[in-house]
Amino acid sequence: MRILSGKDLNKTYVNRDREVRPLQHVNFELHQGEILGIVGESGSGKSTLLKVISGIEKPDSGKLYHLENEYTGQGPEKTGKFLRMIFQDAYGSFDPRMSMERSLREGSDESREEIMRVIGEVGLTEELLSRRPRHLSGGQCQRMSIARALLSHAGVLLCDEITSALDVTTQAQVIKLLLEIRDLEKISIILVSHDLALVSMICDRIMVMKDGVVVEEGKTEKVIAEPSDEYTCKLLDSIIAV
Ligand code: ADP
Ligand code: MG
Repeated sequence: MRILSGKDLNKTYVNRDREVRPLQHVNFELHQGEILGIVGESGSGKSTLLKVISGIEKPDSGKLYHLENEYTGQGPEKTGKFLRMIFQDAYGSFDPRMSMERSLREGSDESREEIMRVIGEVGLTEELLSRRPRHLSGGQCQRMSIARALLSHAGVLLCDEITSALDVTTQAQVIKLLLEIRDLEKISIILVSHDLALVSMICDRIMVMKDGVVVEEGKTEKVIAEPSDEYTCKLLDSIIAV
């Protein structure tokens, strides 16, 4: 079942009289229970695409659908019912003055029992709930932002470089957690990263972006084994080289 999709999305910014086109005729589909990876070098338009999908930014043209319902032009207060963003800077996504428990409670009307259940599911313990964000490690804070998203029952998580600020071991743990919660909660995930190796580990399908254009799209195994675009080959070579 197709849960989220976009048709012919376009977005142009003007930076000091110079036009930048981070989205050019972009189409995408996200299916129920799927993890879709979006990869590409810095500046290729990945974050812009997530901002447009989430309604933080509006596309200049094109259409967005949740199931069969068009939601183009709706902001985060509306889209928050079916999708949630998780950002690279987990610390910055929480109010620094609030305890974690208060932050989690503000975003949802769930019982304390449900909050405890989700805290356990993301691999955290109760005692961390009394802390403020700066008294958590980067990995713990990112797990808290995943917990907050799960408590909203949004169904779709949009993850923008969520492991980029973490050390390698913690990165692997957070990635493993995404797989676990996809299975447990039956959610769908878009995972944006500049790191093709990481994306190819857990994604069912991959989209490759370059200069605002989707240059390749397909099942992960196929994109890795038989890349059809020269740019994807370059990204693959850079993995093999390290
Ligand atoms: P990525 O996430 O792939 O690194 P972005 O989507 O952040 O790429 O950016 C794509 C291009 O759009 C870049 O050239 C960036 O400078 C430009 N851009 C992104 N957001 C804005 C904005 N709010 N105003 C002007 N230009 C922007
Ligand atoms: Mg980005």
